[in-house]
Amino acid sequence: MDKVIVQLKKMSRYAFQTRSEKILGVSGPASAAMEMAITNLVWPGRKILILKTGTFSDRLAQMAQGVGGEVEIFESQPLRPIEPTQVEELLRRQSFDVVAMVHGETSCGVVNPVVQISKIVAGHGALFVVDAVVTLGTRPMEMDRWGIDVVITGGQKGLASIPGVSLIAFSERAWNAIEARKARQSHWCLDALRAQEFWGNRKYHYTAPVPGILALSESLRLLCEETLEKRFFRHMRSSNALQLGIEAMGLELTIPKEYRLDCLVAVNIPDGIDGTLLRSCMVDRFGVEVSGAFGLNILRIGQMAEQCRPHHTYRALFALGMAMSQFGANVNVAKGLTAFESSFAGAHAESG
Ligand SMILES: *Cc1c(COP(=O)(O)O)cnc(C)c1O
Repeated sequence: MDKVIVQLKKMSRYAFQTRSEKILGVSGPASAAMEMAITNLVWPGRKILILKTGTFSDRLAQMAQGVGGEVEIFESQPLRPIEPTQVEELLRRQSFDVVAMVHGETSCGVVNPVVQISKIVAGHGALFVVDAVVTLGTRPMEMDRWGIDVVITGGQKGLASIPGVSLIAFSERAWNAIEARKARQSHWCLDALRAQEFWGNRKYHYTAPVPGILALSESLRLLCEETLEKRFFRHMRSSNALQLGIEAMGLELTIPKEYRLDCLVAVNIPDGIDGTLLRSCMVDRFGVEVSGAFGLNILRIGQMAEQCRPHHTYRALFALGMAMSQFGANVNVAKGLTAFESSFAGAHAESG
């Protein structure tokens, strides 16, 4: 196991684009890694600013409230990213120990400008925590170069592993804050210093989630073999073709191109169509499962990892179009599929 962990951390450093030695695995969902970030850096008296764009950033706020932090929530306009100028404004008025946000907000399909926000946060001396659960491995996310203090990811999203083992990386500044902490840590499993005993010092913390670690290790090996560059291109090309196909069919994408997340494509459901029935139809007739949303009348189509292969994406697009027509939406399925094909053909030509 020791050898596997050493290798896994090395591969993770490449995936996270960091030189940090403080990369820890967490036995649990991505939410457990989010909770590890929050519970180690927030305690009574610590001030944290949550930049909220949807369900997952709200979860960070709940966790911070749970450990007694002084939590300020700033919410973006619905279905829009956080604007860097808004963050600058907030930090000028008030100081915070920690600022946390989600890079790709999967609940609605918005991508946040973390590079610009990271600079602003660093300029004000706060620690910057980013949930990169869907973005890590699907689009550029460079922990060191972008100056992010804590990056969180899960197994089952951008990394294409199974759920159950998640990863978190801390910058030196973040680690120093954890070591200097005087307040009592109420979480035992999620205590980063205890976890480091296993992940850094080869000692026992709790029984390692062996199957998940092996799965994650294999996923990271595949990622390193493919290289980040080629992987990002594969995601972009597949998602672009899907987006063009959806629009060519006559359907509407929820999020404008400038801040649309590629790895999760949100589609508006035309008025009068029941999203739940539509999704059941896609599963029952075509064996394609897509997600509903947290209260919004949209469908969410994942474009992560192995989904980003032409045969999978084509099938998803076809199922979407056919189900929509079955429920009476005004769609031209053939036109959508043609647009999808041309987009792929074009991308091939460009890549040589
Ligand atoms: C899925 C997701 C999570 C939560 O992942 P779990 O493994 O269900 O805990 C957190 N953040 C983002 C951005 C996600 O997409």
